[in-house]
Amino acid sequence: MSDLTLLTAAESRRALDAREISSVELTNAYLDRIDAVEPKIHSYLHVMTDIALAQAAAADTRIAAGDDVRDLTGVPVALKDILCTTDAPTTAASKILEGYVSPYDATVVAKLREQGAVFLGKTNTDEFAMGSSTENSAFGPTLNPWGENRVPGGSSGGSAAAVAAREAVISLGSDTGGSIRQPAGFCGIVGLKPTYGRVSRFGLLPFASSLDQIGPFTRTVEDTAIMLRSIAGQDRMDSTSAPIDVPSFTEKFGSDLKGIKIGVAKEYSVDGMETGVDAAMQAALKQLQDLGAELVEVSLPHTEYALATYYITAPAEASANLARYDGVRFGNRIEGDDLIDTYMRTRGQGFGPEVKRRIMLGTYALSSGYYDAYYVKAQKVRTLIKQDFDTAFETVDAIVAPTSPTVAFEMGSRTDDPYAMYLADVFTIPANMAGIPGISVPAGFSDGLPVGMQFFAKAFDESTLLGIAHAYEQAAGFYKELATV
Ligand code: GLN
Repeated sequence: MSDLTLLTAAESRRALDAREISSVELTNAYLDRIDAVEPKIHSYLHVMTDIALAQAAAADTRIAAGDDVRDLTGVPVALKDILCTTDAPTTAASKILEGYVSPYDATVVAKLREQGAVFLGKTNTDEFAMGSSTENSAFGPTLNPWGENRVPGGSSGGSAAAVAAREAVISLGSDTGGSIRQPAGFCGIVGLKPTYGRVSRFGLLPFASSLDQIGPFTRTVEDTAIMLRSIAGQDRMDSTSAPIDVPSFTEKFGSDLKGIKIGVAKEYSVDGMETGVDAAMQAALKQLQDLGAELVEVSLPHTEYALATYYITAPAEASANLARYDGVRFGNRIEGDDLIDTYMRTRGQGFGPEVKRRIMLGTYALSSGYYDAYYVKAQKVRTLIKQDFDTAFETVDAIVAPTSPTVAFEMGSRTDDPYAMYLADVFTIPANMAGIPGISVPAGFSDGLPVGMQFFAKAFDESTLLGIAHAYEQAAGFYKELATV
């Protein structure tokens, strides 16, 4: 076979099982590809060359012996550098955790390790997953493999760019307000935020605990199903993980959408939406109808409050979660004159500007006298947002929406205007607020840059979500287009 990096995870599995390729060959193909494109893209903060090759050799032995071969045995994956790993640093792209190695694996990492997956490395992110462009990394930005000087989206921009640039078969990211779906859209690949509670977050460095979810980046919806069933399930280490069965997630794959009702929310058309994105959306809606789906107008009236609600809730929870980085228990410590001075120096020099902004906003929103006016009020509005979806799902199986109002923007174009950066999350945040699953799939191009489209479904109904996404993907065919980096 010529270029092994063209294989999806499902195709890699078949080729490995048929002994057409070995995991060591597959892993070397990715390591070569990483060497070739990293100078241009910078998806990775840490490449795990020796570990990957050892894991690949072990996978080959396991496959040769026919010993417990699973979906991802011998398949190379990349991990967002916010997931704890015992054999590589976990930094959240922050100076405060530079060089930090966790004493335990995140549950998702442990599950992949147990399957015999190969870890290529840890991918770049906005610092502590706060951002939409990966420009907030303390270790330099990632570039979008589709365009000169374009951001890959964020915060999981490294994981998205790695899959789009074929530097990994699959990667994992985290999504608190869109950090999987938005970079997947910007990089022309598939990104899934599972239902809140579907995947254990144990060992995910927390940002906003009531919103964070871990999910996959893949080139196809089939690969998303494979990765989701590999990482999902209840975990006694995360009390928010739900005791719900893990199906194959492919049971609703079919070639048409007859009998399926898809909601189109009238609130999901905003000022500032690019005409190229709108045109791609219109074409996609037509395609869904051609597949037999019935499009139904639905209303999600509280959508306009989602951004404000998120930008109170997420910083408030972040300010509490980030209190642990004080130079005492882990990470870097900058010695001061006394304990308070040590805290101040460590946090003052360890955190970057966006993280400090969030901590200040969140501390303010939680402070005495403001807590009810901000955090409690935000939680009440959040309930209304969730009820909008509950009502809509009484009449439709899924809802369709653009992933972002624009395609990938230019590096540096929004860094001086945090508000403009926040506004771009308008279509992704509501799913986190409601706890429901959302997937972004490639839906065409605007000026040569990928456009992403999202589907949402009821909580824990990823099977319906992936079934619809798969039928659309196969009919539309945009997944076959590859970035030419
Ligand atoms: N862009 C959003 C933020 O900056 C979402 C980030 C995320 O999902 N981790 O908070």
